[in-house]
Amino acid sequence: MKKILKEFLISASLFFSIFYVTLQVDWMKLFHLQPTIVGDKLSEWVWKMAESSLWKVNNHDVCAPIDSLVYEMCKANDISMADVHIIVNRDNEVNAYATVGNHLIINTALIKKMENESQLCAVIAHEMAHLRLGHIKSAVRQQAVITVLFTLISGNGHSEVLANLTSKIISNSITRAKENEADEHGAHYMHAMHINPMEMASTLEKFESYGILSYLMDHADSKKRAAHIRKMHFPDNGPYRKILSQETWEKLKRACQ
Ligand SMILES: [Zn+2]
Repeated sequence: MKKILKEFLISASLFFSIFYVTLQVDWMKLFHLQPTIVGDKLSEWVWKMAESSLWKVNNHDVCAPIDSLVYEMCKANDISMADVHIIVNRDNEVNAYATVGNHLIINTALIKKMENESQLCAVIAHEMAHLRLGHIKSAVRQQAVITVLFTLISGNGHSEVLANLTSKIISNSITRAKENEADEHGAHYMHAMHINPMEMASTLEKFESYGILSYLMDHADSKKRAAHIRKMHFPDNGPYRKILSQETWEKLKRACQ
């Protein structure tokens, strides 16, 4: 029995040592790999695995208003619509997240929870900032190495396991500093489209218990992040506006039930 335990402990510590060392090495630099080509290939591969676990919503009442919000955000901030791929995913978890291949996933349960379009814009703006700031791309490098390592060690190549692992590694790679950066840039995106940027702060406060707008499940952090946004200065840019009509907003909410 003691022998089995000893062997188990040795194997486990060996696994975690390799895991830790793998995270510390810049593999791209080591093998003189081109970040864009390799990054794109890895993203494609990882996305194929992750996509299979989504239930995409194609309902016009859902897609049209989301597209309108994203279109206005992109137009006001000089972002090409072709650079952001929005997917509404039918899922009971209140969540939205940026992921590989410039994909931004919004769960129907999150839309259902939002009280107005400004809150929804805050979520989209924060996630879009993660994509624009390259936070996800840098996480992909780490996750790819670890996914390959995991497959080699465990011999388990099942896509669901790998997809779960992938989202976990992205979570681990998004630091507190990156969350703050995404809040700040997101608030600027909102301001540029004439939506009150302080809605970023109130959305953080209001939905802190759901852990949205954060890859870090640290709820105490939401208050600090909201306070940081409230201290930011935005030049007055006229009256704030509404993009969707009340009828369209209500249809969107109903379709997400
Ligand atoms: Zn975030």
